[in-house]
Amino acid sequence: MRPEDLLRPTPQGLYCPPGDFHIDPTSPVERALITHGHSDHARAGHGHVLATRETLRIMRARYGDDFAGSSEAVALGEPMRIKGVTATFHPAGHVLGSAQIAVEAHGLRIVASGDYKRRADPTCLPFVPVACDIFITEATFGLPVFRHPPAEDEIAKLLASVAQFPERAHLVGAYSLGKAQRVIRMLRDAGYERTIYLHGSMEKLCQLYESEGVALGDLANATVASGHKADFAGAIVICPPSEITERWARRFPDPVACFASGWMRIRQRAKVAGVELPLILSDHADWDELTATIAELSPREVWVTHGREEALVRWCSLAGIPARPLHLVGYEDEEE
Ligand SMILES: [Zn+2]
Ligand SMILES: [Zn+2]
Repeated sequence: MRPEDLLRPTPQGLYCPPGDFHIDPTSPVERALITHGHSDHARAGHGHVLATRETLRIMRARYGDDFAGSSEAVALGEPMRIKGVTATFHPAGHVLGSAQIAVEAHGLRIVASGDYKRRADPTCLPFVPVACDIFITEATFGLPVFRHPPAEDEIAKLLASVAQFPERAHLVGAYSLGKAQRVIRMLRDAGYERTIYLHGSMEKLCQLYESEGVALGDLANATVASGHKADFAGAIVICPPSEITERWARRFPDPVACFASGWMRIRQRAKVAGVELPLILSDHADWDELTATIAELSPREVWVTHGREEALVRWCSLAGIPARPLHLVGYEDEEE
């Protein structure tokens, strides 16, 4: 069997002809296997959805009970027969419930990583390396310039700034699924016990994480509590990245605009976004994690998708591993 007969790129995403399913399809299909809950991977309107229980909960929270015709929760590590192929979900270390999907038939195994990272994250299971013939890797930060510093250092930077400016509020822009909860959990692990304030759009997913056993400590709604600007002196407020420099931010005392993202590695990007305190904190593998993962798995072939594909393809070629870009469209650099 040729790899392309088992899994192939199509305008709607990766398609498996013998199993008749798509992985993370970008438009409604009959049968979809979903790697994780970010909105560019998990869309509403499919006939039948297979995903981890957590990912299904996230989709339900975002799109409502009728997010798909029907759905089925998949247990990690348990092979599942779909027509002529076997599919198995394995942890990807990206966000709560995130999974890689291994597709197998006639002795050929392809692993679609979805989005992944290799660093410890207290809010989700760590990435599990799965031996495979073809590894499909993301490449969001697929350039040698992207080397994420230790996440703990970035949280320490935030806490140092809070200590230095006790009269100002720190507004931390963070994506509502994954990043927000990771920042909060890491603040707790660093010993920060004060109430953390949330933009209204963050609440549903924070509650979901808590109900899945990720303790986030004392949280309060930043909008409801507003009115007394001074109450937020020294406070940490988590909000969507788009809000840190908007009108919404002005209700807080002399706000410090922070943004937790792998993109903050690019100073120019932080500057353009009006970010005063960039926090380089990513839920995607950086260049070293990408290349170390490929070297560790040592697959027969690598397919590279969304992000900076060419540099990683070239790195593979130099390492003696045949590689090609998939040119899939419809996936963003990061959520929102
Ligand atoms: Zn993602
Ligand atoms: Zn993605």
